[in-house]
Amino acid sequence: MFERTRKQLTLFFGSILGVVIILITAFFYLLLQETLQHNEIQKLDDLKNKMSQQWEHRMEEQTKGIRPMDHKIKNVEWIFLLTDELIVWVSPDQKPQISPTRYAAMSNQLLNWSQRNEMKRENGERFYEDESGERKIFLVSSQILKDDGGKYWMAIDISSNEALLRTIRLILMLSTVVLLFIAIWLAYFFAGKAMVPIKKSYARQVEFTTNASHELRTPLSVIHSSVELLEECKDVLPEFEQHILDSLQDEVTRMIRLVESLLTLARSDSKSLPIQIEKVDLVQVSHQIYQAIQPLALVKGIILKLQGPIMEHELTSFIHGNIDQIKQLIYIILDNAIKYTPSGGQVTISYRTSQDGRPTLQIADTGIGIPKDELARIFERFYRVDKARSRELGGAGLGLSIAADILSNHRAYIHVTSEEGKGSVFEIEFQSERISV
Ligand code: ADP
Repeated sequence: MFERTRKQLTLFFGSILGVVIILITAFFYLLLQETLQHNEIQKLDDLKNKMSQQWEHRMEEQTKGIRPMDHKIKNVEWIFLLTDELIVWVSPDQKPQISPTRYAAMSNQLLNWSQRNEMKRENGERFYEDESGERKIFLVSSQILKDDGGKYWMAIDISSNEALLRTIRLILMLSTVVLLFIAIWLAYFFAGKAMVPIKKSYARQVEFTTNASHELRTPLSVIHSSVELLEECKDVLPEFEQHILDSLQDEVTRMIRLVESLLTLARSDSKSLPIQIEKVDLVQVSHQIYQAIQPLALVKGIILKLQGPIMEHELTSFIHGNIDQIKQLIYIILDNAIKYTPSGGQVTISYRTSQDGRPTLQIADTGIGIPKDELARIFERFYRVDKARSRELGGAGLGLSIAADILSNHRAYIHVTSEEGKGSVFEIEFQSERISV
Protein backbone atom coordinates (compact mmCIF):
# COMPACT_ATOMS: atom_id res chain seq x y z
CA MET A 1 0.00 0.00 0.00
CA PHE A 2 2.78 2.42 1.01
CA GLU A 3 4.84 1.42 -2.00
CA ARG A 4 1.91 2.32 -4.29
CA THR A 5 1.46 5.72 -2.60
CA ARG A 6 5.22 6.31 -2.84
CA LYS A 7 5.13 5.46 -6.55
CA GLN A 8 2.19 7.85 -7.07
CA LEU A 9 4.03 10.61 -5.19
CA THR A 10 7.19 9.88 -7.21
CA LEU A 11 5.19 10.18 -10.41
CA PHE A 12 3.71 13.47 -9.22
CA PHE A 13 7.00 15.04 -8.01
CA GLY A 14 8.91 13.52 -10.95
CA SER A 15 6.48 14.96 -13.51
CA ILE A 16 6.71 18.44 -11.98
CA LEU A 17 10.53 18.31 -11.86
CA GLY A 18 10.64 16.81 -15.36
CA VAL A 19 8.45 19.57 -16.82
CA VAL A 20 10.56 22.25 -15.09
CA ILE A 21 13.82 20.71 -16.40
CA ILE A 22 12.46 20.41 -19.94
CA LEU A 23 11.13 23.99 -19.87
CA ILE A 24 14.43 25.43 -18.56
CA THR A 25 16.45 23.47 -21.14
CA ALA A 26 14.14 24.48 -24.00
CA PHE A 27 14.22 28.11 -22.85
CA PHE A 28 18.03 28.09 -22.68
CA TYR A 29 18.29 26.53 -26.15
CA LEU A 30 15.81 28.93 -27.73
CA LEU A 31 17.58 31.91 -26.10
CA LEU A 32 20.92 30.78 -27.49
CA GLN A 33 19.43 30.15 -30.95
CA GLU A 34 17.79 33.56 -30.91
CA THR A 35 21.04 35.30 -29.88
CA LEU A 36 23.05 33.54 -32.59
CA GLN A 37 20.45 34.31 -35.25
CA HIS A 38 20.33 37.92 -34.13
CA ASN A 39 24.13 38.13 -34.51
CA GLU A 40 23.98 36.57 -37.97
CA ILE A 41 21.35 39.06 -39.13
CA GLN A 42 23.38 41.87 -37.63
CA LYS A 43 26.45 40.70 -39.52
CA LEU A 44 24.50 40.51 -42.78
CA ASP A 45 23.23 44.07 -42.20
CA ASP A 46 26.79 45.26 -41.52
CA LEU A 47 27.89 43.67 -44.77
CA LYS A 48 25.03 45.36 -46.59
CA ASN A 49 26.07 48.74 -45.16
CA LYS A 50 29.73 48.19 -45.98
CA MET A 51 28.84 47.33 -49.58
CA SER A 52 26.57 50.37 -49.94
CA GLN A 53 29.25 52.64 -48.52
CA GLN A 54 31.82 51.17 -50.92
CA TRP A 55 29.50 51.75 -53.82
CA GLU A 56 28.67 55.30 -52.82
CA HIS A 57 32.37 56.03 -52.29
CA ARG A 58 33.11 54.67 -55.75
CA MET A 59 30.33 56.70 -57.34
CA GLU A 60 31.69 59.80 -55.60
CA GLU A 61 35.19 59.14 -56.89
CA GLN A 62 33.81 58.60 -60.41
CA THR A 63 31.83 61.84 -60.23
CA LYS A 64 34.93 63.68 -59.06
CA GLY A 65 36.86 62.09 -61.92
CA ILE A 66 39.30 60.30 -59.61
CA ARG A 67 38.09 56.92 -60.93
CA PRO A 68 37.17 56.03 -64.53
CA MET A 69 33.47 55.40 -65.21
CA ASP A 70 33.29 51.62 -65.49
CA HIS A 71 31.95 48.71 -63.50
CA LYS A 72 34.76 46.28 -63.92
CA ILE A 73 35.74 43.94 -61.12
CA LYS A 74 39.22 45.35 -60.79
CA ASN A 75 37.62 48.55 -59.68
CA VAL A 76 35.77 46.99 -56.78
CA GLU A 77 37.62 47.00 -53.50
CA TRP A 78 36.83 43.82 -51.63
CA ILE A 79 39.33 44.48 -48.89
CA PHE A 80 36.60 45.23 -46.37
CA LEU A 81 35.37 41.63 -46.51
CA LEU A 82 36.00 39.22 -43.66
CA THR A 83 37.01 35.63 -44.40
CA ASP A 84 33.50 34.23 -43.79
CA GLU A 85 31.82 36.79 -46.03
CA LEU A 86 31.10 36.47 -49.72
CA ILE A 87 29.74 38.88 -52.29
CA VAL A 88 28.61 38.14 -55.84
CA TRP A 89 27.96 41.26 -57.86
CA VAL A 90 26.23 41.22 -61.19
CA SER A 91 27.00 44.43 -63.01
CA PRO A 92 24.52 46.02 -65.42
CA ASP A 93 26.31 44.26 -68.31
CA GLN A 94 25.26 40.92 -66.62
CA LYS A 95 28.79 39.86 -65.74
CA PRO A 96 29.02 38.22 -62.36
CA GLN A 97 31.94 39.42 -60.30
CA ILE A 98 32.94 37.40 -57.31
CA SER A 99 34.71 38.53 -54.17
CA PRO A 100 38.06 36.81 -53.80
CA THR A 101 37.30 34.82 -50.70
CA ARG A 102 37.92 31.19 -49.87
CA TYR A 103 34.34 30.55 -51.04
CA ALA A 104 34.95 31.76 -54.54
CA ALA A 105 34.59 28.20 -55.88
CA MET A 106 31.04 27.91 -54.77
CA SER A 107 30.00 31.42 -55.67
CA ASN A 108 28.53 30.31 -58.99
CA GLN A 109 26.30 27.81 -57.27
CA LEU A 110 25.25 30.44 -54.79
CA LEU A 111 24.54 32.82 -57.63
CA ASN A 112 22.51 30.25 -59.54
CA TRP A 113 20.58 29.35 -56.47
CA SER A 114 19.98 32.98 -55.45
CA GLN A 115 18.84 33.97 -58.91
CA ARG A 116 16.39 31.07 -58.96
CA ASN A 117 15.04 31.82 -55.51
CA GLU A 118 13.45 35.05 -54.64
CA MET A 119 15.12 36.72 -51.66
CA LYS A 120 11.86 37.34 -49.93
CA ARG A 121 12.85 37.29 -46.30
CA GLU A 122 14.10 40.49 -44.79
CA ASN A 123 16.51 38.60 -42.56
CA GLY A 124 18.05 36.59 -45.37
CA GLU A 125 17.55 33.12 -46.83
CA ARG A 126 19.53 30.00 -46.00
CA PHE A 127 21.67 28.39 -48.65
CA TYR A 128 23.00 24.88 -48.05
CA GLU A 129 26.07 23.63 -49.83
CA ASP A 130 27.88 20.32 -49.59
CA GLU A 131 31.48 21.11 -50.21
CA SER A 132 33.48 17.90 -50.57
CA GLY A 133 31.39 16.14 -47.95
CA GLU A 134 31.36 19.07 -45.55
CA ARG A 135 28.06 20.84 -45.24
CA LYS A 136 28.19 24.59 -45.39
CA ILE A 137 25.32 26.89 -44.54
CA PHE A 138 25.10 30.52 -45.66
CA LEU A 139 22.76 33.30 -44.84
CA VAL A 140 22.11 35.11 -48.12
CA SER A 141 20.55 38.45 -48.93
CA SER A 142 20.47 40.63 -52.07
CA GLN A 143 20.37 44.31 -52.82
CA ILE A 144 20.14 46.51 -55.91
CA LEU A 145 22.82 49.18 -56.19
CA LYS A 146 21.95 52.80 -56.68
CA ASP A 147 22.52 54.60 -59.96
CA ASP A 148 21.94 51.52 -62.05
CA GLY A 149 24.92 49.77 -60.48
CA GLY A 150 23.49 46.29 -60.87
CA LYS A 151 22.58 43.81 -58.20
CA TYR A 152 24.65 41.98 -55.66
CA TRP A 153 24.19 39.03 -53.35
CA MET A 154 25.96 38.81 -50.09
CA ALA A 155 26.37 35.77 -47.95
CA ILE A 156 27.87 34.98 -44.60
CA ASP A 157 29.05 31.57 -43.55
CA ILE A 158 26.96 30.47 -40.56
CA SER A 159 28.12 26.83 -40.59
CA SER A 160 30.08 27.23 -37.35
CA ASN A 161 27.02 28.66 -35.58
CA GLU A 162 24.89 25.80 -36.85
CA ALA A 163 27.53 23.29 -35.72
CA LEU A 164 27.63 24.98 -32.33
CA LEU A 165 23.84 24.81 -32.05
CA ARG A 166 23.92 21.14 -33.07
CA THR A 167 26.51 20.33 -30.40
CA ILE A 168 24.66 22.28 -27.73
CA ARG A 169 21.40 20.58 -28.73
CA LEU A 170 23.03 17.18 -28.27
CA ILE A 171 24.61 18.17 -24.95
CA LEU A 172 21.30 19.58 -23.72
CA MET A 173 19.41 16.48 -24.78
CA LEU A 174 21.87 14.19 -23.01
CA SER A 175 21.96 16.35 -19.91
CA THR A 176 18.14 16.52 -19.89
CA VAL A 177 17.98 12.72 -19.90
CA VAL A 178 20.54 12.55 -17.06
CA LEU A 179 18.70 15.29 -15.14
CA LEU A 180 15.39 13.49 -15.65
CA PHE A 181 16.87 10.34 -14.12
CA ILE A 182 18.23 12.38 -11.22
CA ALA A 183 14.82 14.08 -10.86
CA ILE A 184 13.06 10.70 -10.72
CA TRP A 185 15.55 9.46 -8.14
CA LEU A 186 15.11 12.67 -6.09
CA ALA A 187 11.33 12.41 -6.40
CA TYR A 188 11.49 8.82 -5.17
CA PHE A 189 13.77 9.84 -2.31
CA PHE A 190 11.56 12.76 -1.20
CA ALA A 191 8.40 10.68 -1.63
CA GLY A 192 10.00 8.21 0.79
CA LYS A 193 10.73 11.08 3.23
CA ALA A 194 7.14 12.34 2.89
CA MET A 195 5.89 8.85 3.69
CA VAL A 196 7.68 8.70 7.06
CA PRO A 197 5.07 10.64 9.11
CA ILE A 198 2.24 8.88 7.24
CA LYS A 199 3.78 5.49 8.02
CA LYS A 200 4.26 6.47 11.66
CA SER A 201 0.68 7.58 12.20
CA TYR A 202 -0.57 4.55 10.28
CA ALA A 203 1.50 2.25 12.49
CA ARG A 204 0.15 4.04 15.58
CA GLN A 205 -3.40 3.62 14.36
CA VAL A 206 -2.85 -0.08 13.61
CA GLU A 207 -1.22 -0.53 17.00
CA PHE A 208 -4.15 1.18 18.67
CA THR A 209 -6.72 -0.95 16.83
CA THR A 210 -4.80 -4.14 17.62
CA ASN A 211 -4.42 -3.25 21.29
CA ALA A 212 -8.00 -2.03 21.65
CA SER A 213 -9.45 -5.13 19.96
CA HIS A 214 -7.18 -7.33 22.01
CA GLU A 215 -8.11 -5.64 25.27
CA LEU A 216 -11.81 -5.73 24.41
CA ARG A 217 -11.77 -9.45 23.72
CA THR A 218 -11.38 -10.55 27.34
CA PRO A 219 -14.17 -8.43 28.90
CA LEU A 220 -16.43 -9.36 26.01
CA SER A 221 -15.77 -13.06 26.54
CA VAL A 222 -16.57 -12.59 30.24
CA ILE A 223 -19.85 -10.81 29.39
CA HIS A 224 -20.62 -13.49 26.80
CA SER A 225 -20.10 -16.37 29.25
CA SER A 226 -22.08 -14.48 31.91
CA VAL A 227 -24.97 -13.97 29.48
CA GLU A 228 -24.80 -17.64 28.54
CA LEU A 229 -24.93 -18.52 32.22
CA LEU A 230 -27.96 -16.32 32.67
CA GLU A 231 -29.57 -17.91 29.59
CA GLU A 232 -29.65 -21.19 31.49
CA CYS A 233 -31.97 -19.74 34.11
CA LYS A 234 -33.85 -17.59 31.59
CA ASP A 235 -37.18 -19.36 32.27
CA VAL A 236 -37.38 -18.04 35.85
CA LEU A 237 -37.01 -14.45 34.69
CA PRO A 238 -39.99 -12.21 33.92
CA GLU A 239 -40.84 -11.76 30.21
CA PHE A 240 -39.35 -8.26 29.98
CA GLU A 241 -35.99 -9.37 31.45
CA GLN A 242 -36.00 -12.36 29.09
CA HIS A 243 -36.34 -9.95 26.26
CA ILE A 244 -33.44 -7.86 27.55
CA LEU A 245 -31.33 -11.00 27.93
CA ASP A 246 -32.01 -11.99 24.30
CA SER A 247 -30.94 -8.64 22.91
CA LEU A 248 -27.93 -8.64 25.24
CA GLN A 249 -26.94 -12.01 23.81
CA ASP A 250 -27.36 -10.69 20.23
CA GLU A 251 -25.37 -7.53 20.87
CA VAL A 252 -22.55 -9.36 22.66
CA THR A 253 -22.26 -11.85 19.79
CA ARG A 254 -22.17 -8.96 17.31
CA MET A 255 -19.54 -7.15 19.37
CA ILE A 256 -17.36 -10.26 19.56
CA ARG A 257 -17.60 -10.67 15.77
CA LEU A 258 -16.79 -7.00 15.23
CA VAL A 259 -13.77 -7.11 17.53
CA GLU A 260 -12.55 -10.28 15.80
CA SER A 261 -12.87 -8.57 12.39
CA LEU A 262 -11.01 -5.49 13.64
CA LEU A 263 -8.26 -7.65 15.04
CA THR A 264 -7.95 -9.57 11.77
CA LEU A 265 -7.71 -6.32 9.79
CA ALA A 266 -5.22 -4.78 12.21
CA ARG A 267 -3.04 -7.88 12.05
CA SER A 268 -3.19 -7.91 8.30
CA ASP A 269 -2.28 -4.18 8.22
CA SER A 270 0.72 -4.64 10.46
CA LYS A 271 1.69 -7.79 8.56
CA SER A 272 2.71 -9.10 11.98
CA LEU A 273 1.86 -12.68 11.19
CA PRO A 274 3.69 -14.30 8.31
CA ILE A 275 1.18 -16.43 6.49
CA GLN A 276 1.93 -19.98 5.60
CA ILE A 277 1.49 -20.83 1.93
CA GLU A 278 0.57 -24.33 0.91
CA LYS A 279 -1.21 -26.17 -1.87
CA VAL A 280 -4.95 -25.79 -1.39
CA ASP A 281 -7.62 -27.76 -3.19
CA LEU A 282 -10.25 -25.17 -3.96
CA VAL A 283 -12.89 -27.82 -4.71
CA GLN A 284 -12.33 -29.58 -1.44
CA VAL A 285 -12.28 -26.38 0.64
CA SER A 286 -15.46 -25.08 -0.99
CA HIS A 287 -17.14 -28.41 -0.36
CA GLN A 288 -16.25 -28.22 3.34
CA ILE A 289 -17.62 -24.69 3.65
CA TYR A 290 -20.71 -25.67 1.66
CA GLN A 291 -21.43 -28.43 4.19
CA ALA A 292 -20.70 -26.19 7.16
CA ILE A 293 -22.94 -23.38 5.97
CA GLN A 294 -25.80 -25.57 4.69
CA PRO A 295 -27.71 -25.45 8.04
CA LEU A 296 -27.62 -21.61 7.94
CA ALA A 297 -29.14 -21.65 4.45
CA LEU A 298 -31.78 -24.16 5.55
CA VAL A 299 -32.81 -22.00 8.53
CA LYS A 300 -33.23 -19.02 6.18
CA GLY A 301 -35.12 -21.12 3.62
CA ILE A 302 -32.47 -20.65 0.91
CA ILE A 303 -31.43 -23.29 -1.60
CA LEU A 304 -27.65 -23.67 -1.48
CA LYS A 305 -26.13 -25.40 -4.52
CA LEU A 306 -22.62 -26.60 -5.25
CA GLN A 307 -21.81 -27.00 -8.93
CA GLY A 308 -18.78 -28.08 -10.83
CA PRO A 309 -15.99 -28.40 -11.20
CA ILE A 310 -16.24 -27.28 -14.85
CA MET A 311 -12.52 -27.52 -15.56
CA GLU A 312 -10.38 -28.77 -18.34
CA HIS A 313 -7.91 -30.36 -15.93
CA GLU A 314 -8.72 -31.49 -12.43
CA LEU A 315 -5.35 -30.24 -11.28
CA THR A 316 -6.30 -26.63 -11.88
CA SER A 317 -8.50 -26.73 -8.79
CA PHE A 318 -5.27 -26.50 -6.79
CA ILE A 319 -4.02 -23.11 -5.82
CA HIS A 320 -1.19 -21.90 -3.64
CA GLY A 321 -2.38 -20.05 -0.59
CA ASN A 322 -3.11 -20.02 3.08
CA ILE A 323 -5.88 -22.51 3.74
CA ASP A 324 -7.35 -20.59 6.69
CA GLN A 325 -7.49 -17.35 4.74
CA ILE A 326 -8.98 -19.04 1.68
CA LYS A 327 -11.66 -20.60 3.88
CA GLN A 328 -12.34 -17.22 5.52
CA LEU A 329 -12.62 -15.55 2.09
CA ILE A 330 -15.13 -18.08 0.77
CA TYR A 331 -17.01 -17.99 4.06
CA ILE A 332 -17.33 -14.16 4.01
CA ILE A 333 -18.73 -14.09 0.47
CA LEU A 334 -21.00 -17.07 0.99
CA ASP A 335 -22.23 -15.66 4.31
CA ASN A 336 -23.03 -12.35 2.60
CA ALA A 337 -24.84 -14.17 -0.23
CA ILE A 338 -27.06 -15.93 2.30
CA LYS A 339 -27.44 -12.80 4.44
CA TYR A 340 -28.59 -10.63 1.54
CA THR A 341 -30.85 -13.19 -0.13
CA PRO A 342 -34.45 -13.38 1.03
CA SER A 343 -36.08 -16.65 1.96
CA GLY A 344 -36.92 -18.78 -1.08
CA GLY A 345 -33.88 -17.52 -2.99
CA GLN A 346 -30.91 -19.48 -4.27
CA VAL A 347 -27.15 -19.32 -3.73
CA THR A 348 -24.85 -21.24 -6.07
CA ILE A 349 -21.17 -22.05 -5.70
CA SER A 350 -19.44 -23.09 -8.92
CA TYR A 351 -15.92 -23.48 -10.29
CA ARG A 352 -14.32 -23.06 -13.65
CA THR A 353 -11.00 -22.25 -15.17
CA SER A 354 -10.64 -18.86 -16.77
CA GLN A 355 -9.46 -18.54 -20.38
CA ASP A 356 -5.86 -18.23 -19.24
CA GLY A 357 -6.17 -21.28 -16.99
CA ARG A 358 -6.75 -19.64 -13.62
CA PRO A 359 -8.92 -21.46 -11.08
CA THR A 360 -12.05 -19.41 -10.64
CA LEU A 361 -14.68 -19.66 -7.95
CA GLN A 362 -18.08 -18.14 -8.44
CA ILE A 363 -20.70 -17.41 -5.78
CA ALA A 364 -23.99 -16.23 -7.22
CA ASP A 365 -27.15 -15.32 -5.36
CA THR A 366 -30.66 -14.27 -6.24
CA GLY A 367 -30.76 -11.70 -3.44
CA ILE A 368 -31.35 -7.99 -3.09
CA GLY A 369 -28.38 -7.02 -5.27
CA ILE A 370 -26.12 -3.99 -4.98
CA PRO A 371 -26.78 -0.62 -6.69
CA LYS A 372 -24.27 0.03 -9.52
CA ASP A 373 -22.84 3.20 -7.98
CA GLU A 374 -22.17 1.41 -4.68
CA LEU A 375 -20.32 -1.54 -6.22
CA ALA A 376 -16.90 0.12 -6.08
CA ARG A 377 -17.27 0.95 -2.39
CA ILE A 378 -18.38 -2.34 -0.84
CA PHE A 379 -14.76 -3.37 -0.14
CA GLU A 380 -14.14 -0.24 1.96
CA ARG A 381 -13.93 -0.58 5.70
CA PHE A 382 -17.24 -0.10 7.54
CA TYR A 383 -19.06 0.46 4.25
CA ARG A 384 -22.59 -0.89 4.12
CA VAL A 385 -25.08 -0.21 1.37
CA ASP A 386 -28.09 -0.24 3.67
CA LYS A 387 -26.73 0.44 7.15
CA ALA A 388 -29.90 -0.40 9.04
CA ARG A 389 -30.47 -3.62 7.13
CA SER A 390 -26.85 -4.72 7.39
CA ARG A 391 -26.75 -4.00 11.13
CA GLU A 392 -30.00 -5.91 11.58
CA LEU A 393 -28.35 -8.86 9.87
CA GLY A 394 -25.31 -8.60 12.14
CA GLY A 395 -22.99 -6.93 9.63
CA ALA A 396 -20.48 -4.22 10.48
CA GLY A 397 -19.17 -3.57 6.97
CA LEU A 398 -15.84 -5.25 7.63
CA GLY A 399 -16.33 -8.66 5.98
CA LEU A 400 -15.45 -7.60 2.43
CA SER A 401 -12.50 -5.48 3.69
CA ILE A 402 -11.04 -8.64 5.20
CA ALA A 403 -11.84 -10.43 1.91
CA ALA A 404 -9.97 -7.68 -0.01
CA ASP A 405 -6.88 -8.15 2.20
CA ILE A 406 -6.96 -11.91 1.65
CA LEU A 407 -7.34 -11.40 -2.11
CA SER A 408 -4.36 -9.05 -2.13
CA ASN A 409 -2.27 -11.53 -0.09
CA HIS A 410 -3.03 -14.16 -2.73
CA ARG A 411 -2.72 -11.82 -5.74
CA ALA A 412 -6.24 -12.92 -6.64
CA TYR A 413 -8.88 -10.77 -8.36
CA ILE A 414 -12.55 -10.41 -7.68
CA HIS A 415 -15.19 -9.34 -10.20
CA VAL A 416 -18.58 -8.34 -8.86
CA THR A 417 -21.65 -7.97 -11.02
CA SER A 418 -24.98 -7.20 -9.53
CA GLU A 419 -28.46 -6.09 -10.37
CA GLU A 420 -30.72 -4.58 -7.77
CA GLY A 421 -33.56 -6.91 -6.86
CA LYS A 422 -32.14 -9.73 -8.99
CA GLY A 423 -28.94 -10.79 -7.29
CA SER A 424 -25.18 -10.61 -7.30
CA VAL A 425 -22.29 -12.63 -8.67
CA PHE A 426 -18.88 -12.62 -6.96
CA GLU A 427 -16.19 -14.23 -9.08
CA ILE A 428 -12.76 -14.87 -7.59
CA GLU A 429 -9.88 -15.54 -9.94
CA PHE A 430 -6.85 -17.13 -8.25
CA GLN A 431 -3.30 -17.34 -9.53
CA SER A 432 -2.53 -20.70 -11.02
CA GLU A 433 1.18 -20.51 -10.27
CA ARG A 434 3.00 -20.40 -6.92
CA ILE A 435 2.75 -17.09 -5.12
CA SER A 436 5.19 -15.56 -2.68
CA VAL A 437 3.87 -13.57 0.28
P1 ADP B 1 -21.40 -6.60 6.17
O1 ADP B 1 -20.77 -7.21 7.34
O2 ADP B 1 -22.21 -5.40 6.47
O3 ADP B 1 -22.10 -7.58 5.30
P2 ADP B 1 -19.39 -6.56 4.13
O4 ADP B 1 -18.09 -5.81 4.08
O5 ADP B 1 -19.33 -8.02 4.09
O6 ADP B 1 -20.17 -6.00 5.36
O7 ADP B 1 -20.24 -6.06 2.88
C1 ADP B 1 -20.38 -4.68 2.64
C2 ADP B 1 -21.74 -4.35 2.08
O8 ADP B 1 -21.85 -4.87 0.77
C3 ADP B 1 -22.88 -4.99 2.85
O9 ADP B 1 -23.28 -4.17 3.92
C4 ADP B 1 -23.95 -5.11 1.79
O10 ADP B 1 -24.68 -3.91 1.72
C5 ADP B 1 -23.18 -5.30 0.49
N1 ADP B 1 -23.15 -6.71 0.06
C6 ADP B 1 -22.14 -7.57 0.19
N2 ADP B 1 -22.43 -8.77 -0.37
C7 ADP B 1 -23.69 -8.66 -0.88
C8 ADP B 1 -24.58 -9.54 -1.58
N3 ADP B 1 -24.23 -10.78 -1.88
N4 ADP B 1 -25.77 -9.03 -1.95
C9 ADP B 1 -26.13 -7.77 -1.67
N5 ADP B 1 -25.36 -6.90 -1.00
C10 ADP B 1 -24.15 -7.32 -0.61
